[in-house]
Amino acid sequence: MEREWNQKILVTRSSMPPFEEYVEAIRPIWESAWLTNMGVNHKKLEEELRDYLSVPEVSLFTNGHMALELCIQAMGLEGEVITTPFTFVSTVHAIVRNNLTPVFCDINERDYTIDVDKLEDLITDKTSAIVPVHVYGHICDVERIEEIAKKHKLKVIYDAAHAFGVRYKGMGVGSFGDASMFSFHATKVYNTIEGGAIATDDKDLIKKLYSLKNFGIKSEVLIDDVGANAKMNEFAAAMGLCNLLHVDDEIKKREKVYKRYMEKLSDIDGLILDRVNEDTKPNYAYFPVIFDESRYKLNRDQVYELLKTHNIFSRKYFYPLINETECYKGRYEHGDTQVAKRISERVLTLPMYAGLDLEIVDNICEIIRRGE
Ligand SMILES: *Cc1c(COP(=O)(O)O)cnc(C)c1O
Repeated sequence: MEREWNQKILVTRSSMPPFEEYVEAIRPIWESAWLTNMGVNHKKLEEELRDYLSVPEVSLFTNGHMALELCIQAMGLEGEVITTPFTFVSTVHAIVRNNLTPVFCDINERDYTIDVDKLEDLITDKTSAIVPVHVYGHICDVERIEEIAKKHKLKVIYDAAHAFGVRYKGMGVGSFGDASMFSFHATKVYNTIEGGAIATDDKDLIKKLYSLKNFGIKSEVLIDDVGANAKMNEFAAAMGLCNLLHVDDEIKKREKVYKRYMEKLSDIDGLILDRVNEDTKPNYAYFPVIFDESRYKLNRDQVYELLKTHNIFSRKYFYPLINETECYKGRYEHGDTQVAKRISERVLTLPMYAGLDLEIVDNICEIIRRGE
């Protein structure tokens, strides 16, 4: 049975700890009056995240974007960096803002991560790194990427903004490549309001990042790097400590939503749903659906509009492709990115968050089934 929803259903809703828990967590900040600059909450959160993510080192940042931008700077990369156009614009901005040239590689049809079969053709003598994206929390082909990177002596920085808590063959997703960036933005599976981190096993990189996120300051009298300001403050870190206590439960609730969508949508012709890879412990960050208009009665944009008339706000993640977005269009050469284009024109991410009522999921699925 359909209800009329007067409440807007957005694609996501931020996870928050119980109010009292956060108030208790920030009380000591009033006693110490230490608000930022690597305080006790910052230190504790770095420790706990090393543990949770099963990675040797973690460096916290004010957001995921600055984490990635400064990580690229810290590695002193030059020339060209290969990434995919099927991502959030931040990935490419982080490359371009370091005066590097992004080279766009296509994605594969299976999980929408970088197509490793097309990757090697794009490597030139100017290539210094690969920035693959674990899009929707799907794990890139980390083994092949490692092989290719070793062969051509390239750095690998994963954009793991979507992949918090994901494990691959029992390992934390941040264990692969030279470094991984996580985003703790309010809309992600795990948040510190705004925040981000670099995970790595490279102690020298961690030292460099510590300095770069604090203006390049080494001591009171020594500033030897052109750094930025990208420190996570104590209130954000306290939010992170609180949310970390609940993130496993939040992911379990997301799994229920995922299963409900699968149950209700899998028999509709012309819909391609997200499949969980058997080597992966997923985090159910998004619920992308590809609408194939040759087999389903509506195209993606029509579904988007239809849901909107029912007060349900899905998102076209990721459309347009980054190489077709206003600030990058025609600016860089790229290989053939036809799969990315096809997916980008057909994908819709449906509402997905821990507190999403299963009745609402049923309602969304019913609207899609009817197609009107
Ligand atoms: C969210 C996101 C970022 C940026 O993270 P912020 O914490 O918002 O700065 C980068 N890449 C991808 C793929 C993202 O989804």
